[in-house]
This record gives sequence, structure tokens and C-alpha cells, in this order.
Amino acid sequence: MTTIKKLRELEIILNKSTGKKVLGMVPTMGSLHEGHISLVNRAVKMCDEVWVSIFVNPAQFNDINDYKKYPVDLKKDIDNIKSINQNINIFIPNVNDIYGAKIVKDKFDFQKVDKVLEGIKRPGHFNGVGTIVKKLFEIFKPNLVFFGEKDFQQTIIVQKIIDNYFKNIKMIVCPTVRSEDGLALSSRNSLLSKDAKKNISAIYDSLLFAKQNFNKFSDNDLKSIIKNKIEKNTGYILDYFELRCSKTLRFCNRKNIKKCCCRAFICVIVDGVRLIDNLVMTNEN
Ligand code: AMP
Repeated sequence: MTTIKKLRELEIILNKSTGKKVLGMVPTMGSLHEGHISLVNRAVKMCDEVWVSIFVNPAQFNDINDYKKYPVDLKKDIDNIKSINQNINIFIPNVNDIYGAKIVKDKFDFQKVDKVLEGIKRPGHFNGVGTIVKKLFEIFKPNLVFFGEKDFQQTIIVQKIIDNYFKNIKMIVCPTVRSEDGLALSSRNSLLSKDAKKNISAIYDSLLFAKQNFNKFSDNDLKSIIKNKIEKNTGYILDYFELRCSKTLRFCNRKNIKKCCCRAFICVIVDGVRLIDNLVMTNEN
């Protein structure tokens, strides 16, 4: 385990000895799966020095039970990372390392992108994300940081933190890794029962349906068709399905589709587990 003090010493050594090394960072909450591993692999390809952080950040959980039941398997995670490359560095701080005695969340102005989708459903979540990301970037001073498209709204939030505080950092957004049934890999998937997983392909199928039928139906019609597709499965609740612009997260402007790259965002609650996913509907421009 690496403490912040040790890191500071290492940072000094790094700066002195290497100067131009490209330092890459992959922030995670652990319980690693192939989605995380794809980020680490990308970082290994692009950077001289890679740091993976594993920290279940209490400040980004608005539901204490969700925090408590978040899956943790540090030994497996470390073995997983080291099996990619022994030289990858792992940062596993504890809550006290990061926050000291009291967890205090910074308050950011995210220009309303935190007031939609997950931001509404999980009040305070993105201030918690912003707080940890800012702390990690301050500790590591990375050149490149790697995040997943699966948490698309989070990538917009992180880009705002970068624009405001770390102009020299570049974010690499990596594509969503899915299982055979289309389910976006997530640490939370391990909380799903076998029964709940039976119809899990309904989530990605709904996104594909929306893409294929984007020009045929209005937003509202698509939403009600998808609600039926999801909720016909026992234990599945559609929390939201929304079509929004990839850049601003405002509702899609179908009349000016050239200016608005439309993306579908979905959240389905399956047996109490929130699963989020998204898919681009129109070409990025
Ligand atoms: P988490 O541990 O859930 O905080 O995720 C850490 C990073 O991995 C975030 O940047 C996520 O967006 C990314 N990630 C999680 N699941 C996937 C996935 N299925 N495909 C690609 N990236 C992912």
C-alpha cells in the first residue's frame, strides 16, 4: 500500500529523474472487471508510468447502504492488475488518507450538467466525484487520465474539473466493455441474482432499438416503448430513459441534429441494483 507521504517522495524522485515521463492515472473504486482492465491496458500503451487508484469514495454515495454493500476484493484486484504488468503502480488509500477526520465535499459549479440524469437521482453525487478526482489529480499530477464512456455524464464532469483546475491534463475516454448479452460491465453486476440476469439483455437491446428507430419515433414514443420492453421483466424498473446532447446534456434538438450529437441514457433498477448505460444515436460531429 502506498501512502500519500510516500507518493510525494516518489513524485519528487520522478520529477527530478525523468522530467518528461508520461504519467497516466486510472481512478477506480475497485472490484475490477474487464471494463476497468481495458482502461488500464490503454494507459499502459500510452504512458511510461501508470497509477491505478482503488478507493470506494464515500463522498460520492448519497445512499449509505449503497456504500456499505459496494463490493470490495482488494487481493483479486491487485492480482488482476499485476497480471497485466508488474510495473503498474497501485494506490489504495483509506478514507482517512484522503479526507482526514471529516469527509468534506467540495461544491463545484458544473454549469447544470450535474442537474440532470444521475445528478437528479443521486443528489450530491457529482460533487463527491469532483472532490475525489480533484484530490487524486492534485496528488498524482498525471498527464493522461483514463475514464470509461459507460459513465458518460461522469466524463463530462471530469472534463469540467480538468478545464477549471488542470489545464495540462488530457482525458482519454475508453469505450464501454460489455458482456455477451450486451450488459455494460459494472462492479455492481455482481450484486445481481441469477434470476435477475436472465433478461438483462433487455437493457442494451433497448438502446439498440432506440438507435435503429431514432428517426421513426418521437422521444416520448421511444420512451414508452422502451419502458414496456424493460418493465415486462419481473423486478425491472425503468428509472429513466432520456435522449440528450452528448456535449451539453440538454435534451436533443432533433431539428438541428447536426449541432446536437444525440445520445440515449438509460437507468434500470433490477432487484434494487441501479444499472446505467448509454449509446450514441447520431454520429458524433
Ligand atoms: P468505477 O470503479 O465504477 O468507479 O469505474 C472506474 C472507471 O472504469 C470509470 O472511468 C468507469 O467509467 C470505467 N468503467 C466502468 N465500467 C466500465 C465498462 N464496462 N467499460 C469501460 N469502462 C468502464
